[in-house]
Amino acid sequence: MRIVLLGPPGAGKGTQGELLVKKYKIPHVSTGDILRAAIKEETELGQKAKVYVERGELVPDGLVVGIVKERLAREDAASGFLLDGFPRTPAQAEALDASLREMGMQLTAVINVDVDTEILLERLTGRRVCRDCGATYHIKFNPPTVRCVCDKCGGELYQREDDAAETVRQRLEVYRKQTEPLIAYYKEQNILYTVDGSQEIEQVFADIIEFLQ
Ligand code: ADP
Ligand code: ADP
Ligand code: ZN
Repeated sequence: MRIVLLGPPGAGKGTQGELLVKKYKIPHVSTGDILRAAIKEETELGQKAKVYVERGELVPDGLVVGIVKERLAREDAASGFLLDGFPRTPAQAEALDASLREMGMQLTAVINVDVDTEILLERLTGRRVCRDCGATYHIKFNPPTVRCVCDKCGGELYQREDDAAETVRQRLEVYRKQTEPLIAYYKEQNILYTVDGSQEIEQVFADIIEFLQ
């Protein structure tokens, strides 16, 4: 299973991604998670990416394409993977196609998680993330059992800096301009499935699974 999760910020890619990788036992490759970890650890990549992430802009293609290529070449990705938040530009999509071709692979499906802007704003501003394991919650729609504490590892929950209202607006605009064209790109390849992401988490997951089977 080689899956790409496409959709605007807040659509539920990370949430569905967690469920899908558990079911299919494939690695979860989230460029957002990789970049946030690099920024936290102040690696060279992190130092380069920081300004873009903070402004709600995309990190340059060259930087992300390199990371993803390396990640997909690792042994645990040989029999499948789930890409979350990549590709995000036509250039990234073309680079992905090219490197999969080189490895003699192709994508199984691209799942487009479709959600209206109003709901996205509510989801992003209420999102909380675990500092230790990266698990995602929502103060209203998917709250942890104990306030501010991760159910999975006991870590502290925090609000991502780029989930502040002003940055969210910028990220949604970046999505419309730079990422949305990928819907047509994958439709043309006949591998696109659009799921109604405004439904409850379990229903969105059920729809995706039904399609993949
Ligand atoms: P993305 O990775 O696409 O940015 P997330 O998976 O982080 O999105 O979800 C954004 C926020 O919305 C999180 O707080 C998450 O808990 C919540 N969420 C995700 N899916 C749903 C859903 N189907 N219904 C309600 N809230 C959801
Ligand atoms: P969300 O799903 O909520 O938009 P992500 O965690 O996927 O958030 O991404 C957070 C930030 O990381 C983006 O706003 C962008 O700055 C950077 N980023 C993540 N993935 C990519 C990518 N494929 N290309 C460029 N920048 C990226
Ligand atoms: Zn945790």
